[in-house]
Amino acid sequence: MKKALVTGGAGFLGSHLCKRLLDDGYEVTAIDNLYTGSEENIAPLASQPNFTFLQHDITRPFEGAYDEIYNLACPASPVHYQASPVETTLTCVTGFLNVLENARAAGSKVLHASTSEIYGDPLVHPQVETYRGNVNTIGIRSCYDEGKRCAETLASDFRRVYGVDVRMVRIFNTYGPNMHPCDGRVVSNFIMQALKGEDITVYGDGSQTRSFQYCDDLIDAMRLYMELPREQIDSFFAKKGIETPVINTGNPGEYTISQLVTETLRLIPDSPSKTVYRPLPSDDPKRRKPDITLAKELLGWEPRVPLAEGLAKTIEYFRNRVVKNG
Ligand code: NAD
Ligand code: UDP
Repeated sequence: MKKALVTGGAGFLGSHLCKRLLDDGYEVTAIDNLYTGSEENIAPLASQPNFTFLQHDITRPFEGAYDEIYNLACPASPVHYQASPVETTLTCVTGFLNVLENARAAGSKVLHASTSEIYGDPLVHPQVETYRGNVNTIGIRSCYDEGKRCAETLASDFRRVYGVDVRMVRIFNTYGPNMHPCDGRVVSNFIMQALKGEDITVYGDGSQTRSFQYCDDLIDAMRLYMELPREQIDSFFAKKGIETPVINTGNPGEYTISQLVTETLRLIPDSPSKTVYRPLPSDDPKRRKPDITLAKELLGWEPRVPLAEGLAKTIEYFRNRVVKNG
């Protein structure tokens, strides 16, 4: 039986990935310090004999030998990474260094969760993997953006210098069940506000755009990518002139934040919520949309869940939580 480690396994995406790996017949270990994750997310997995949860911070080294490591540990919501900026950078860099050292010792394959944030406030649209980004090194988002950029550098050097088999996905805004109700990202905020009849908080004038990917589509892409033989990956990226295997994963449908309000309220028609406008946080990217040509060619993958369908499933999840928790 193959052994997989998921760092950040009690988080939103990590918990979905743990479930998928168990369904695929893996022995799964989740490591998480529970900064933004919750044991509730993994409670349905706890009774499975092939699942182990370790409460641990990856900025400290850890033991164990795994066939595959998925590195997802890192707060992803601006509200939470900005609340602990130093820890965020350290998780991205020192934490990932520990993951890579563990993989190097055991000969594990590594799939690292990078982000569209490495493009910053992009000057190229849609964003292609060869675009190098437009990032502020000293702003409130820098702990995350620059931390994730440095993590990409570490991945590339562990590959070049030590031959570690590491692959990276640059994830664009992904949403779905298991997001924390107080996560602070836009999809969960709008749904919770609409369900509770509270004001819907649009930052800025709502004209900024994002592309929203449903979680199941991302998990499909991650599993397909990890399954590919190294030789196939190496020859694909060599032909593209890209040194380290990195692909965008996201849904190219692009929506303004105002359109997201409209869509959310269309799916929650009994909501009395009104829209209110709040200041736009600094360095908030104006436009974001992935070019997913590489993922399509390499994995034969593209997202299948349209926004309305994914939002409906997410609303259902949060509706149950609002009823349960009052
Ligand atoms: P999340 O906050 O729900 O999950 C992150 C998990 O990592 C949490 O369970 C948290 O407790 C854990 N964690 C944080 N620091 C840790 C540390 N030092 N040691 C151990 N565990 C730690 O966020 P998510 O949306 O599930 O994101 C998962 C990964 O995907 C992150 O690396 C994030 O940067 C990346 N990503 C997500 C998105 C998205 O839209 N969801 C977009 C781009 C990248
Ligand atoms: N946003 C908003 N209202 C909210 C939360 C976020 O208008 O309650 C905006 C935010 O300013 C950004 C977009 O929605 O332009 C996406 O924000 P999120 O925090 O989800 O992720 P980001 O892509 O900025 O990391």
